[in-house]
Amino acid sequence: EVNWKDRHVTVAGLGVSGVPAARVLRGFGARVTVVNDGDDERARAQAAELEALGATVRLGDGDTLPEGTDLIVTAPGWKPAKPLFRAAAEAGVPVWGDVELAWRLRGPDAAPWLAVTGTNGKTTTVQMLASILEAAGLRTAAVGNIGVSLLDAVLAEQREDGDQYDVLAVELSSYQLHWAPSVRAHSAVVLNLAPDHLDWHGSMAAYAADKGRIYEGNRIACVYNVADPATEDLVREADVEEGCRAVGFTLGTPAPGQLGVVEGILVDRAFASPDDTEDGSRSQPERSPAELARYRRTHAQELAEIGDVTPAAPHNIANALAAAALARAFGVRPRAVRDGLRAFTPDAHRIAHVADVGGVAYVDDSKATNTHAAEASLAAYENIVWIAGGLAKGATFDELVLASVKHLRAAVLMGADRALIREALARHAPDLPVVDLERTDTGAMAEAVREAAGLARPGDTVLLAPACASMDMFVNYGRRGEAFAEAVRDLEAAHGGAE
Ligand code: ADP
Repeated sequence: EVNWKDRHVTVAGLGVSGVPAARVLRGFGARVTVVNDGDDERARAQAAELEALGATVRLGDGDTLPEGTDLIVTAPGWKPAKPLFRAAAEAGVPVWGDVELAWRLRGPDAAPWLAVTGTNGKTTTVQMLASILEAAGLRTAAVGNIGVSLLDAVLAEQREDGDQYDVLAVELSSYQLHWAPSVRAHSAVVLNLAPDHLDWHGSMAAYAADKGRIYEGNRIACVYNVADPATEDLVREADVEEGCRAVGFTLGTPAPGQLGVVEGILVDRAFASPDDTEDGSRSQPERSPAELARYRRTHAQELAEIGDVTPAAPHNIANALAAAALARAFGVRPRAVRDGLRAFTPDAHRIAHVADVGGVAYVDDSKATNTHAAEASLAAYENIVWIAGGLAKGATFDELVLASVKHLRAAVLMGADRALIREALARHAPDLPVVDLERTDTGAMAEAVREAAGLARPGDTVLLAPACASMDMFVNYGRRGEAFAEAVRDLEAAHGGAE
């Protein structure tokens, strides 16, 4: 319990996490100083709002530690290497991120957290999980980078008239985990680990260590990806509660203690119990661990069919297994897993089928902003005309091209760093037809779609999976995906309407 009235809290960074944090801390009576690097119009508007609540705001100087600071609450994106944090370390001032703040503000009866991180698939998995928990009749929300903010959810639980939750499905980024030293999940998963955001974390080891934080103190299950041994290593290194289990998920046949796929069926050999009944009820589980382990050596509890998952691409089946594992760790019945997966629809720009034109499918995976994500979507189709390019963020493309070349019919490249992809294709797929648009303007997308249409044959898929960030050409990946969809619709109109 913190007595906020005696505290001087410095909030580092305005914006989506800083403004609500400052507001809440003022509400608790803390003395609040907000420091912010930028000093633009938006920052001034936010500053005015917080000043009206009694906060002090310093614009244009995010690096000087205000005198008398007891605690820093930082925006998750602020780099650990910033001078402000060096000053804090020297002065012995603790630093919390927005997630840590939410965790510390939880009431005694707060809902447990089922937590999800990973390089790719976080949002999808958290939404699948929330859908499963809802199908089980639990009061829940998908929180984190999506939907309700974690802080709002935690505060609502403590108000008589606020939303009450039985459990929260929490998405956590590596940045947020870095600044969340005391969060303890009920159960958690690291979906996968590929190089990303290395400029922020400093190294792959530091990035992995921050992701691994999600397992610290888990009570029931640490869920890992059998195909990604680095995730299992993180489980091994974590300090967990006694009795907490390591539970793997795999696209292959699961060993006892894992979830996996058998003949097109998602099955559970980790939480399977003789008490799982067909109608979805479960009698009170009063069985010894030894008895359950014996049961799981011979029984695989069916959860759902591959066709219950949209899209049924391999990486997304993996997301579904991870979500199912967390739900099962929380005691959800098999029937609810299936119903929840069936009810789930993915967000826009994540392997979204836009249209079929002339027998060719056009698919928008604009959210594939790094090579690991693009590799997953390229693995989901055959005979692909691949539209790629944008800002590479320091990535290399050899591995992606090597893994994907057998799925490619042709490639159309655009954006600032397209030469990196062109060169990787020339190295590993010298015979592949490649169109280099040599342009980085917004209009390039329409030309890319026309070029792709010219290269595709009936039965092929034109796939936008840029493997790059969008900001060289578009405001964000959403706008990039919309530009693709508009271009496809123009193509469709020119082709004589929908099929
Ligand atoms: P995140 O929240 O981690 O950014 P999303 O669920 O929004 O992840 O998915 C982002 C993109 O990552 C998707 O469009 C898809 O291309 C890819 N993706 C999704 N799940 C996975 C996975 N399990 N492994 C690899 N790539 C994935």
